[in-house]
Amino acid sequence: MEHSRASFVLGHHFEQARIVHCQVGEPTLLVTELTPFHPQSHLWPDQPGDVGTASWEGGSAVVGPCRMGAISPEGELFVDQAIPVKRGAEGWAFVVVHPLAGQHALPIGGEVELKVDAEARHALSLGHSGCHLVALALNRVLMPYWRKEVSERDALEQPDFDRLAIQSSRVESRGSREQYRIGKSLRKKGVNSEALLAELPRIEQQVNAQLAEWLASGGEIRRSRAGEAIIDSRYWHCVLEGREVTIPCGGTHVGSLAELGIVSVQLNPREEGFTLQSRVSP
Ligand SMILES: [Zn+2]
Repeated sequence: MEHSRASFVLGHHFEQARIVHCQVGEPTLLVTELTPFHPQSHLWPDQPGDVGTASWEGGSAVVGPCRMGAISPEGELFVDQAIPVKRGAEGWAFVVVHPLAGQHALPIGGEVELKVDAEARHALSLGHSGCHLVALALNRVLMPYWRKEVSERDALEQPDFDRLAIQSSRVESRGSREQYRIGKSLRKKGVNSEALLAELPRIEQQVNAQLAEWLASGGEIRRSRAGEAIIDSRYWHCVLEGREVTIPCGGTHVGSLAELGIVSVQLNPREEGFTLQSRVSP
């Protein structure tokens, strides 16, 4: 079996697709050769899976949220955290799993119409594009808090505090929620955690000012991918400060910074770090 082909990177919400696997249950797990649905990653579950509907001759069902799956050489489907192999493992097909409400015995080789809830998708795309911009703004504002040269750099070649300190990231409708931890290894790398944590309110203001400046430029956002398969690498590109920056990203996004309107963050202290809540007001 082949890996699922995914069209959400192209901004698609609708596909007519051929059924390649159907596991009847509550929910029924449907796999198609092609899909417009974005699945939540099993490795870094930042963006929730798309929801929507599936319809076929004589029936329809609510879909989602979609997840990643892998089908073994023997034809057994494993979903999300139960996937026992690395992506690209020989003989395994990595697929998008559409959970269908109710029990539906759909024929392999049959056709379904898959339709993503465009409004829910758009709200998540706003949240995810905002989240990338926030990470870059945070890295910019935290540059003075590094006491040493750091080799890990972000897409703007700034010290990559976001990548080094992030514990979890969750994209939400028109926002995101991140947890950052400044542990021993990060302090050893040179982060002045005492000053940073003492100055969170000021940092919050500076991040919001940086976001406003970048958003005013209204730069284009585009996506690219190494191939059509769900496991092929995908990228986010955005024009910022007069050049295009590139970040590896599997999620969905809006088409320009102008669509984001206002993005603002709130920082709150937690043990050995802080939480960040971002909000997008288009
Ligand atoms: Zn991303």
